[in-house]
Amino acid sequence: MPTEIAPGIHRLATDYPHVCGLPLWLHVIDAGSELVLLDAGIASTPEAATAPELAKLGLGLADLTLVVNSHAHPDHMGGNAVLKASSGARVAAPAAEVGWLEDNETLLTELWGSDPAALDLSPAERDELLGMLDERVRVDVLLRDGDLLPADRPLRVITTSGHSPGHIAVLDETSRTLFSFDDVQGRGQQFLDGSVWLAPLYTDVERYVGGLSRLLELDFDFLVPSHGDVLNADAGRKRINDSLEWVDDIHSFTRSLLRAKGSLTVRDLAGAIGTEMGDFGGLCLQTVRMARAHLELLARQRGAEPRWHHLS
Ligand SMILES: [Zn+2]
Repeated sequence: MPTEIAPGIHRLATDYPHVCGLPLWLHVIDAGSELVLLDAGIASTPEAATAPELAKLGLGLADLTLVVNSHAHPDHMGGNAVLKASSGARVAAPAAEVGWLEDNETLLTELWGSDPAALDLSPAERDELLGMLDERVRVDVLLRDGDLLPADRPLRVITTSGHSPGHIAVLDETSRTLFSFDDVQGRGQQFLDGSVWLAPLYTDVERYVGGLSRLLELDFDFLVPSHGDVLNADAGRKRINDSLEWVDDIHSFTRSLLRAKGSLTVRDLAGAIGTEMGDFGGLCLQTVRMARAHLELLARQRGAEPRWHHLS
């Protein structure tokens, strides 16, 4: 039975643990004339998990009127097409990420393809991602910082960016429940099978720090991440602070490695972060984007200079 984490807000299980080995929770909010679903899961989630979860509450996919995507990653928007087809619900998502939300090729090229020397998707990996993403649908409601979701309940949009360029958090002002989705990542997260850890993912250090600092300033009683348990205010603030500390640690690590070696590629740094800063399996999307983000910050701070080399 889905847990009611605050009056009118239920936490729904997903099929993501079976598919990708990590927890993922969606939330449905009774907002008067609107039934709001926060995040869509991957393409298979609506039929495999959301429909049966809603049925336990006497509801169905057809009752949804608004689907919110916190950001344009497959596990948060892959279910859009099925949800839209089965309910006609409007889709609301960050205005800043509409290019990724409406076009899979743009997302794959700009997110996974930023550093081909460090990370190159195999055809099988590409197909797997496209399978989780499904067809894209048009975003009906573009969300900006400070907006209220179109619902009879104050659900405030806070742009945090960082984890992805337009990532939003949502604050239910009635119950002081803060949905942080993927923005508060601590020092990473262990896969459910106890194997390697998933490293934090962020594409811009200053935006990530700025977003986390904004969350710290909010009055909330509960912090609700997509991939973990609901935290009370103290535990939530501690996890935000742990996330900030991680960023400082990686920046110091980047500085000292660059000082020791004289020059670094994104690939060098990502490999080092992915093995020396935790059991993250070396090169992966998370460590590659993190490495690029810290090198770019160091360049803005005039502590490093990007170079171009002829390769072939
Ligand atoms: Zn994400």
